[in-house]
Parts: sequence; C-alpha cells; structure tokens
Amino acid sequence: MSLRRILTVDTDMAVLKQVSTPVETVDDDLRALMDDMLETMYDAPGIGLAAIQVGVPKRVIVMDLARGEDEEPAPRYFVNPEILWASEETQPYEEGCLSVPEIYDEVERPARVKLRYLDYHGKTVEEDAEGLYAVCIQHEMDHLEGVLFIDHLSRLKRERAVKKVAKAAKAA
Ligand code: ZN
Repeated sequence: MSLRRILTVDTDMAVLKQVSTPVETVDDDLRALMDDMLETMYDAPGIGLAAIQVGVPKRVIVMDLARGEDEEPAPRYFVNPEILWASEETQPYEEGCLSVPEIYDEVERPARVKLRYLDYHGKTVEEDAEGLYAVCIQHEMDHLEGVLFIDHLSRLKRERAVKKVAKAAKAA
C-alpha cells in the first residue's frame, strides 16, 4: 500500500471536474487502488474519498464512518455505485472535502437513498443509507460526476472557497 497525493481545487480543478468512467472488472489492480485510497483517506484524515481525488477517473469510492480512536475501523468500498431511489425529504449537513481543505458549509441533500454497488470482491450489494452515510455517499458520488460540494453553494461562496484554499496553500 502507498499514499497517493490528494488533488485540491486550487491546482487540480480541471482533473476534479472530470466525469469518471465505470469499472469493468473488480480485480487485484483495482483492489490495490482501493487499498491505497483507504490508506490515503485515513492519513488525511477523512471519512470518504473518490478515486478522482487521487487523479484516477474511475467510479470507485472508499469510506469509513467509524469515529473516535476506540472505535474499530469499518472500511467500505463502492465500485460503480448507483442511486436507485432518493427520499423527497432532505436534510442539511455541514460538509467538508479533502479536495477543498478547511472549508465547511451546509449542503441540503435527500435524507435517505437506496444504493446499488459492487463491493471489494466485485459482489453486487443493495443497501439503504441514511444519516451521515447518506450524506457521505451522495457527496462522494458527486465527485464521480465532477461535482464538488462547493458547486452546491452560491457562486460567491464557491469563488471565495477556492481563493481561500489557494491562499492557504501558498502560505504553507
Ligand atoms: Zn469530497
């Protein structure tokens, strides 16, 4: 396993805006990518990461919603995820993103979704998601379409966020 560089909006916007392509087979190469992504996400640290955020335009997501030092890690892997159903009821959540470091803002999304995806072994899974799980999977699936959470904000807020990230990167 190895750490990958996480792309950020100040320098890598064009890559982050790409639409990712479906995976044809879940094989050892893909599992190696998912292992790297998980390690990179834990290192950051974050709770979700899409492959495009490490510069790979494939429809792959890793996630771990376990919180706190004393909680067992609970990694989840999603290949070619689809939303089969979304509730009309929405919920607001203050989101952040490893590609938009240190910026947090409220985004409103469906409160519950029904998902279909392939897991780490290529097995088809159908699952309902709510709460933080629903927020996170919708945020990550947006990445597969080249959409960032700041795209859900006003243009003013979005431009301010990108400027702030650029300024922080320069200062570092
Ligand atoms: Zn993100």
